[in-house]
Amino acid sequence: GADCLITSSVQFEIVFYNNGMELTDRLSAIKGIGPKKEKMLADRGLRTVDDLLHFFPRGYEDRRSVTSVRDAVPGQDALIEAYVVNVKISGNPYSKKAPLSVLADDGSGQIEIVFFGERYLAKIFKPGARYTFFGKVTENYTRKQMIHPTFTSTGSEDDFRGVLPIYPAVEGVSQRELRRLELAVSPLADKLAEWIPEDVVRKYKLASPAYAVKNIHFPADSRKVRESRYRLVFEELYTMETGLMVIRGGIASSSGGAQIDCRAGDSFADRLPFELTPGQKEAWEEIRADLESEKRMNRLLQGDVGSGKTVIAEMAMYSAARNGFQSVIMAPTELLADQHYETFTTDLADKGVKIALLTSASGRAEKKRIIEGLADGSIDILIATHAVLQENVKFSNLGLVITDEQHRFGVEQRRTLSAKGRNANILVMTATPIPRTLAVILYGDLDISQIKTMPAGRKPISTTVVTRDMRGRVYDFVGKQVAMGRQAYVIAPLIENSEKIDAVSAGELYKEVSERFPERRVALVHGAMRPAEKDEIMRAFERGETDILVSTVVVEVGINVKNATVMVIENAERFGLAQLHQLRGRVGRGGGDSYCFLVTDDSNELAMKRAEIMSSTTSGFDIAEEDLKLRGPGEIFGTRQHGLPTLEIADLVRHKEVLEDALEAAKETTAADPGLKKPEHAALRERVEKMFGGEVRLDL
Ligand code: ADP
Ligand code: MG
Repeated sequence: GADCLITSSVQFEIVFYNNGMELTDRLSAIKGIGPKKEKMLADRGLRTVDDLLHFFPRGYEDRRSVTSVRDAVPGQDALIEAYVVNVKISGNPYSKKAPLSVLADDGSGQIEIVFFGERYLAKIFKPGARYTFFGKVTENYTRKQMIHPTFTSTGSEDDFRGVLPIYPAVEGVSQRELRRLELAVSPLADKLAEWIPEDVVRKYKLASPAYAVKNIHFPADSRKVRESRYRLVFEELYTMETGLMVIRGGIASSSGGAQIDCRAGDSFADRLPFELTPGQKEAWEEIRADLESEKRMNRLLQGDVGSGKTVIAEMAMYSAARNGFQSVIMAPTELLADQHYETFTTDLADKGVKIALLTSASGRAEKKRIIEGLADGSIDILIATHAVLQENVKFSNLGLVITDEQHRFGVEQRRTLSAKGRNANILVMTATPIPRTLAVILYGDLDISQIKTMPAGRKPISTTVVTRDMRGRVYDFVGKQVAMGRQAYVIAPLIENSEKIDAVSAGELYKEVSERFPERRVALVHGAMRPAEKDEIMRAFERGETDILVSTVVVEVGINVKNATVMVIENAERFGLAQLHQLRGRVGRGGGDSYCFLVTDDSNELAMKRAEIMSSTTSGFDIAEEDLKLRGPGEIFGTRQHGLPTLEIADLVRHKEVLEDALEAAKETTAADPGLKKPEHAALRERVEKMFGGEVRLDL
């Protein structure tokens, strides 16, 4: 049990010096923590006793019982006590990277212990001495192995028998010190008060915070770990979900929605030169059911780039106009708004609906006219950028609000827009395929429609993963395509999420590409440019005035060039799968065969897996699902963009079931008390505000 690892002398010491400590005390109040360690801990966000209690182990070493080499099962963790037979450096002895091999024997058999890049260990392991190794057992052709196990001298003070917590790394503070600290503060967990509403605690049978925190650090048995983890994961997800629900309270109001007869949309579709895909038909049926009902639509429409979401938006907006309602579609960039405006005016010409375009580029007089037309109801359909969010833009009878490429907009912006119509139906369209698991979190209150089919006749993009030494051949290929009159994208890597630094790297790549193709028109676009400048360069590419566009990820959204057939993505390992997919979606938009090259030298397992997924799958949904599994949600989306807080213990993939419980609980709590105003929710409200850290304002 856990108490085995607490030696009695340590325990005595702790009880002694923690008398009278409080949760809010600074860590310097603990004996042995001087200013230096305090700073190291503070750099990791650990300032108070409470912080330390909520700094959870990332795993455990189950050191309760010793396994013999003979019984050790490959693939599983084991604790092995054995004496050293010999120590060897295998491979090239002059190479610093040559592995160190320690042969150990416990009487039942021999096991090889391997360390890479740690040759100094050769001096530590003495033949004949006994060591305790803990780690995953693997198997080499001839014998069992352990790669990089933790080890202690058998019987030494560090050679615990029990369940040992392993903490996330803190610079300047060792595992041993962290354990000692956690042990020191763990009795103070008793002071943690319950803050989750009583009905929720009862319904989900939550362990108390004191119990959960103590057992997550020093568990007595696996059942207690389970109960504790459930509680801690639940509380984190519950807080997050409650926060998101409160934030969206305004949007997801229970008020009725504008009722729109959708037959006009059907006749619009009938006159299109193509038939809707099965996915489009299905999505339209779902949208129509919402629009025709009395309830207010609040729906997310997901579909890959090119899956035909715009047509659906047109059908809905045209129907709204025919029913006497105004509607608006908000795009994240001027370029996209322009594209929509062109599509809408072409498709809806002679249908007797008035369409207007409002962006920050609209002139003063133009703007004034539009604002008047919206207020007096003469404009039926508005295509806009965020310029529409300005306070002086008012509608006379707004019945439908659509946001396109929604991941570019914050929750706040979405709410501001929807507030312009008292009962406007809401449709959020996104080309970022979000796995259902995540969609539930990001849009917990939205119904979801997905378009999973692509219009016929689209050719798959052939995707090839190449190493850097093959770049010459890749660029030769680019040259050939350009010679055939095609256009190409070259994507520069993200360096460190800094637009300035990315711009520099893109600049260097631009120089290289220009020198390689002196006779071609090469252009550069990056995020540090002014929006107008960026727009102009992309438009020139669109007009075919540029052959090769070197770019950072800014092309990810909103560029539609049918003649572009090649994309080279440098340092592809730096991009997430979903992002690679989005980028790749920029080619293959016309009829021509299209190619995507992922340049990478990264050959580790994860990189290979990612490469394999990219070259074998074209469905954005599948890719997003895989990406989520490989990297976790925080990596896929800038969580900040969504106002999503970082999670300490919860993992949105692994804890799917807890997430469902937490979501349900959050729905119940906010249904009964939408603004968290009841006294029994005061503590919860405080947690929510703390979690969202002022980044998202709670309209309470
Ligand atoms: P999204 O907005 O989902 O990226 P769009 O709505 O812009 O996709 O559609 C991409 C292109 O495909 C447009 O040129 C559109 O006219 C065309 N399209 C849409 N639906 C179909 C369909 N069912 N069959 C053929 N082409 C379609
Ligand atoms: Mg679109």
